[in-house]
Amino acid sequence: MPVPSTPNTTTGEGAREAALQLLHRRILTCRRCCQAGLLADCAPVLAAPTVSAVVLVGQAPGRLEPSAQRPFSGRAGQQLFRWLLAAGLESEADARAAVYLTSITKCFPGPARSGSGDRRPTGAEVELCRPHLDAQLRLLDPWLVIAVGQLAIARFLGAHSMDDLVGRVFTASGEEWQEGAARPLDHCGRPLILPLPHPSGASRWLNQMGHREQLGTALRRLRELLQASRGPFPALRDCV
Ligand code: SF4
Repeated sequence: MPVPSTPNTTTGEGAREAALQLLHRRILTCRRCCQAGLLADCAPVLAAPTVSAVVLVGQAPGRLEPSAQRPFSGRAGQQLFRWLLAAGLESEADARAAVYLTSITKCFPGPARSGSGDRRPTGAEVELCRPHLDAQLRLLDPWLVIAVGQLAIARFLGAHSMDDLVGRVFTASGEEWQEGAARPLDHCGRPLILPLPHPSGASRWLNQMGHREQLGTALRRLRELLQASRGPFPALRDCV
């Protein structure tokens, strides 16, 4: 199901793409966490500057991604793309073209001390990286944010148990958004939020009772939202 993720006006589209490329160039030179002594190696990873009104925010790049220079290219990324295909996207390439993929922090944080999976970025790293994500969201003005994993979910909805959130859709103010309600047109800074669990095999959430059904519900709702996005997009404008 190809998703018309690129807003349907030509006047602002080129300017927005140019602004996104400029923003990417700026983020790629960021070394704040190294300067602050929080990371030994700073190598931001960004997807192609796809102008899309659907933004997916994960936790942080994985180990393989700095060399691949492509987010979600590791094993967890492959699982995530399987979920996106279940939600109606046709292929990984279709998903990468239709959805702007990014993360809460942009550099690989290193392995977890437990030896299982990647270290979760600290609050200090998240705060240092926050202006980058804020700028990405301001520029793209998404109507839908897919928040993947606890850290991304907390960024948009506050600290809640995933048990209570996966399978539901929320407004930016944290109210539940009911199925069948009209897609918000004036969404500047107020996207709908659809939470998903972290796709890493290190996450045990999916193995607990009832959670695969919750994920199935979340993917069904994502499919419906992506289908609904086939209507015309409102005029582009800057959320400043
Ligand atoms: S994680 Fe973010 S703030 Fe820290 S160095 Fe990388 S891009 Fe900069």
